[in-house]
Amino acid sequence: MSELTEKLKNVQNIIKETAYQVHRDPSEVLLVAVSKTKPAELIQEAYDAGVRDFGENKVQELCEKMECLPKDIRWHMIGHLQRNKVKYIVGKVTLIHSVDSLRLAEEISKLAHKLQVTQDILVEVNMGREESKFGVMPEEAEGLIRMISTLPGIRVRGIMTSAPYVVDFEENREIFHKMKQLSVDIESKNIDNVSMDVLSMGMSQDYVAAIEEGATMVRVGSKIFGQRYYGTESKQ
Ligand SMILES: *Cc1c(COP(=O)(O)O)cnc(C)c1O
Repeated sequence: MSELTEKLKNVQNIIKETAYQVHRDPSEVLLVAVSKTKPAELIQEAYDAGVRDFGENKVQELCEKMECLPKDIRWHMIGHLQRNKVKYIVGKVTLIHSVDSLRLAEEISKLAHKLQVTQDILVEVNMGREESKFGVMPEEAEGLIRMISTLPGIRVRGIMTSAPYVVDFEENREIFHKMKQLSVDIESKNIDNVSMDVLSMGMSQDYVAAIEEGATMVRVGSKIFGQRYYGTESKQ
């Protein structure tokens, strides 16, 4: 078994065991393999081991990889998205996790409508209230979702958060718990054209706590592909 396959199996096993421990069906938790900065060959290796959902955070990199990798990959846009780049990914990615403004949603809607497709999206919530992070404040999420729900060609499927960097995943448990509560709360409002079946939270450092608190998608990069190397960049 290659090193990558071994790491992948390890993460998949932990997801399964964690789900069982909290009496959840492991099939409720989708692993999105975060392949940003990693070469196509490694993505192909994970694909050959059965992974079909990959997450990228830069539009250009995502489009390049989409071109040269198998067509049945489901691509997830997990990074901050600029309005002028929306045109490159609408209708091509399975889910945009990072919608945090009405203006961005309107642009997605406009292009999706033109292409006659429905683009699934998540609203990104800055549950940790970190200045360095994108996302709406938790108290603004419902209002934004209500406005997006009236736009054509776009469908809210849930919410997403990038929790703070921590050493011990227990430190993020409360944030994940609050995300779950927010998701249940918004779901109970029965907003037309809105579903809350996706709760995207948890990365390499804390996906165990995220699953225990109700995540339906975890976005794991380095624990599968190894550490990433790049210069200092903000808002990763
Ligand atoms: C990079 C990234 C991840 C994965 O981070 P790892 O620590 O490598 O697991 C998850 N979510 C988002 C939004 C990211 O940018």
